[in-house]
Amino acid sequence: MKIIRTPRSMAAWSERLRREGVTIGFVPTMGALHDGHRSLIRAARLRCDALVVSIFVNPTQFSQTEDLSTYPRPIARDRALCREEGVDVCFEPTAPAMYPEGFETTVTVPALARRWEGEARPHHFAGVATVVTKLFGMVQPHLALFGQKDYQQAALIRQLVSDLNLGVAIRVLPTVRERDGLAMSSRNVYLSPDERRIAPLLFQALRTGRLMIEGGMSDVAAIERIMRQTIEQAPTIHVEHLAVCDPDSLEPLSVVADRAVLLGAVRIGSIRLIDNLLVNVPGGKSGTTR
Ligand code: AMP
Repeated sequence: MKIIRTPRSMAAWSERLRREGVTIGFVPTMGALHDGHRSLIRAARLRCDALVVSIFVNPTQFSQTEDLSTYPRPIARDRALCREEGVDVCFEPTAPAMYPEGFETTVTVPALARRWEGEARPHHFAGVATVVTKLFGMVQPHLALFGQKDYQQAALIRQLVSDLNLGVAIRVLPTVRERDGLAMSSRNVYLSPDERRIAPLLFQALRTGRLMIEGGMSDVAAIERIMRQTIEQAPTIHVEHLAVCDPDSLEPLSVVADRAVLLGAVRIGSIRLIDNLLVNVPGGKSGTTR
């Protein structure tokens, strides 16, 4: 496995392979790799001739009060996982190489970034959209894979790839979970044993919501209330949002008819966890947005 550190060498490697007709798959990450990342890497490995994984803790998607300096960076373990999975290039650019002095441009997708994660983390999605656009420019992949775990992020990336004609195929793969349902996340390591015990309540609430919808309940206010009650069994979890939304626009629904995405975010102590579930109502018609 090759380790590439500069944008220029990354682009040169990709240009050479593209000239030879090799298809390039790409999995962008912030490292601290777990089985969620591994599932994206494996899927990409099967679909492409060459595979690039980037590891870059992107400073512009963290706010001042967030965990940029303490974000886990187990680089030796991450490289070992990449080697094990047959990755060809681990791309590890530095922040100054990504954002040299004089860097000016920001990519934004305002409508999709406005609510939910975007509301809680105002500059987050501009940071994500900009870094992903830059990484695509360097890696020049044919295919890039993302996790459903970050549903709003995946929606935003599909939109920007289409709007900017980036010519990268996007695939979004299901969330990989721990045995008790907690979505795998690099941030789960911060949870104390007591916090870890109650963390699966977020998934349980979303699953309760999905069961209610699949069972024929369409009243969103009632569904949201019951989901919230599921979480509030534990007084130390604070609900940030739990919403039943249109899966494409992410606008909140007032009535569920055919498809919905349930989006959730909670805070346990200083840790923020997100999760989501898609729901299909068999034989349903379009829903109504609020
Ligand atoms: P991150 O390193 O957190 O920026 O995530 C890199 C990629 O892995 C993103 O596309 C995430 O959505 C995806 N990912 C993170 N956690 C999971 C998970 N539990 N299951 C599937 N994909 C995930």
